[in-house]
Amino acid sequence: MKTHAQVVVIGGGVVGTSVLYHLTKAGWKDVLLVERAELTSGSTWHAAGGMHTVNGDPNVAKLQQYTIQLYKEIEQISGQSCGVHITGGIMLAGTRERLDWLKMAKARGRYLKMDLELISVEEAARLFPLLDKKYFVGAMYDPIEGHVDPYGVTHAYAKSAQIAGAEVVRHTRVVELKARPDGTWDVITDKGNVRAEHVVNAAGLWAREVGRMVGIELPILAMEHQYLITGDMPELVGKKEQLHAIDFEGEIYLRQERGGMLMGTYERAGVPWSPVTTPWDFGQDLLPNDLERIAPSLAVGFQHFPALEPPGIKKVVNGPFTFAPDGNPLVGPVRGLKNFWVACGVMAGFSQGGGVGLALSRWMVDGDPGADVWGMDVARYGDWTTLAYTNAKVRENYSRRFRIRFPNEELPAARPLRTTPIYEKLKAAHAVFGDYCTLEHPLWYAPSAEEAYDEVSFRRSNAHPHVAAECRAVRDAVGLLEISNYGKFEVRGAGAAEWLSRVMANRVPAVGRLALTPMLNQRGKLIGDFTMCRLSQENFFLIGTYAAETYYLRWFERHPPPSGVSVRPCAMEYTGLAIAGPKSRALLQSMVRDDLATSAFPFLSFRRMEIGMVPAYVGRVSFTGDLGYEMWVTSDYQRALYDLLTEAGRAHGLKLFGGRALNSMRIEKGFGNWAREYRPIYGPFEAGLGRFVDFRKDDFIGRAAAAEEKEKGGALRLLAFRVAARDADAIGDEPIWHRGKAVGWVTSGAYGHRVGASLALGYVPATLVGENDGFEIEIIGERCQATRLAAPAFDPSGALMRQ
Ligand SMILES: Cc1cc2nc3c(=O)[nH]c(=O)nc-3n(C[C@H](O)[C@H](O)[C@H](O)COP(=O)(O)OP(=O)(O)OC[C@H]3O[C@@H](n4cnc5c(N)ncnc54)[C@H](O)[C@@H]3O)c2cc1C
Repeated sequence: MKTHAQVVVIGGGVVGTSVLYHLTKAGWKDVLLVERAELTSGSTWHAAGGMHTVNGDPNVAKLQQYTIQLYKEIEQISGQSCGVHITGGIMLAGTRERLDWLKMAKARGRYLKMDLELISVEEAARLFPLLDKKYFVGAMYDPIEGHVDPYGVTHAYAKSAQIAGAEVVRHTRVVELKARPDGTWDVITDKGNVRAEHVVNAAGLWAREVGRMVGIELPILAMEHQYLITGDMPELVGKKEQLHAIDFEGEIYLRQERGGMLMGTYERAGVPWSPVTTPWDFGQDLLPNDLERIAPSLAVGFQHFPALEPPGIKKVVNGPFTFAPDGNPLVGPVRGLKNFWVACGVMAGFSQGGGVGLALSRWMVDGDPGADVWGMDVARYGDWTTLAYTNAKVRENYSRRFRIRFPNEELPAARPLRTTPIYEKLKAAHAVFGDYCTLEHPLWYAPSAEEAYDEVSFRRSNAHPHVAAECRAVRDAVGLLEISNYGKFEVRGAGAAEWLSRVMANRVPAVGRLALTPMLNQRGKLIGDFTMCRLSQENFFLIGTYAAETYYLRWFERHPPPSGVSVRPCAMEYTGLAIAGPKSRALLQSMVRDDLATSAFPFLSFRRMEIGMVPAYVGRVSFTGDLGYEMWVTSDYQRALYDLLTEAGRAHGLKLFGGRALNSMRIEKGFGNWAREYRPIYGPFEAGLGRFVDFRKDDFIGRAAAAEEKEKGGALRLLAFRVAARDADAIGDEPIWHRGKAVGWVTSGAYGHRVGASLALGYVPATLVGENDGFEIEIIGERCQATRLAAPAFDPSGALMRQ
């Protein structure tokens, strides 16, 4: 084994070998993979090897497409067969809701250029004769599905990497990782030490333990997973290989395995394996079967596919593999550590391993993953992911693997965990809560406790009329919204303004003012959107997306402020309340000594005020697009502020409103949100944020690329649409059609209650900017006419928020 390497990859499963291969492909040849036992000695060896392209996150779906296409390449380079069987697959729907879900999945596949097809039950039975038609109402066919040989794939990656110069050492365990002051690592193994510039944790089943070697607790947990193989079936003799099948209602997947069928299930009562520590002596072992646990799924399986029962069960496999709380991988550099990377929590290694390797290798070599990997970025999780939280969420995710998540469905595990001081008060006001990074926040308010629940649906739900009333109250009087669920940062010290000026694209505001600003990477793409508030010369308060807090901090670490300037995350130290609507000024004025007239406290002002006895930061801004104020207080004051506002608000017709109404109103204004309209694949001009990029500043990160985008116009454009929808509004990821061609995708949609229309925001090619007509948006399989809005649907001139 060499003693120096540019990169040491820990783990020789399908993921580690893919990372190794992609690093060599990107030109880094001095790379070493260290494997504890033989290659595949974690989850990989006993995997069912199934692969598919469909994923709830379109960006992850793209990486899955890439993975499947890659197998030919590594077979050719290595001479090692991957045992690829592309059989095609069907997803079977047993309910109308599931059929709706399939229609949406098919629609989403359109702009990913996936060749998905909705088929009747008759057609499904023709393609997959083992099913009993009476249990199904329709299906979707995907020609690009199949399975591979896990051993073959892993060795093909490893050999391809070795041919390009990589070294692979087996039977060598990494036992310790020591960071050196220069950012390099001492990788201590049981066979000697290696000095590495970079370390990649691709340790699969042991990734959590390898994380602990560097002091981090990665949010991953292994679950036991069982599949069985039936005895030989006469129905399969002399036939073409059977398709892959997913039976959502049965919560099972099937494929042919030699003369029998393989049937696996994600049972509801899933069991974690080694919840605290994974034993190092676990090798190519299997866990004891527990057929009783999966008996309910098996019973449904034998009912829906009767030919599987008579041949009996020939073999049962029970093996562990790891999941993150949302079921997507954890990839990327880890905040707080230099040159330490992860590629773990990959629950579908044979669909995702290639994409993970590609993204990580680009990140390491080019400093950027080259694609939108927010959905699998390790930084999407913050400090809230304790061991017990991860345990609860992974179990929930596992049990729901084949269940529908409706757009208005809030999942119950690990809740309520974090609450703000006014939680009980809002509950008493019949709030229906959502969970955002473990913090409970109000979504909407029901008229009574009995009605305070969501009827989950793809269509307008029971919340619709109540959200409408909340929006009307904001339009006509004044509404009160809890806004605690934002990320907040204090930036202080001599040089703070200069640092912010370099990191943010907009002009740093004057004292007493706030500015909205995009944050760009060097490629001029959006990696954040902030409200930058200036309290004094060198004292700033930043407000951004809480879910991206770790992501932002990682970026700030790579672009650190000068000494003397501190950047402190303080999200949960400050809670917030916002009021919006024409009477909001009169309401706040009744409680403060400051003059709130526009001449004294104009739009985008920011100041410390005393609201009664409560010291608060007050910003004159509202995400609803109305006259409005955001008030930030340390959490100990929130209760008092809430009481003051609700008491004084009575005289002004104050009504509580929640996140659903806010979403509707911000879409009426065309205001974007992080992870929807704003993501690292869009530039500020494409996203309609060009006016917040200040080219009068000499230098800021992404300036040159943003200037080029401005000059050339960018490839895409975010547009707003009024949609002739019937009973369901766009929610995001629907295709946008133009004159019969799928040209773009929706990022957000909602019913605009203040304007009485269904609305959507989405990206289309910039060449279509001049077009107003000919657009359609496909909602649950129905193409609805969409009219492009040249100006925001609500208050197009913006006069209301400035009044
Ligand atoms: C029963 C079952 C069925 C499955 N079916 C499918 C399927 O159909 N399709 C699909 O895509 N996926 C399936 N999976 C999931 C798939 O197995 C995983 O996604 C994949 O194996 C993850 O690979 P990995 O490389 O991340 O981890 P692992 O395979 O766990 O590899 C990690 C490697 O790191 C090594 N290692 C760990 N710590 C150290 C250390 N300190 N020093 C040196 N080496 C170390 C280990 O020995 C191991 O070889 C299934 C899993 C199971 C259990």
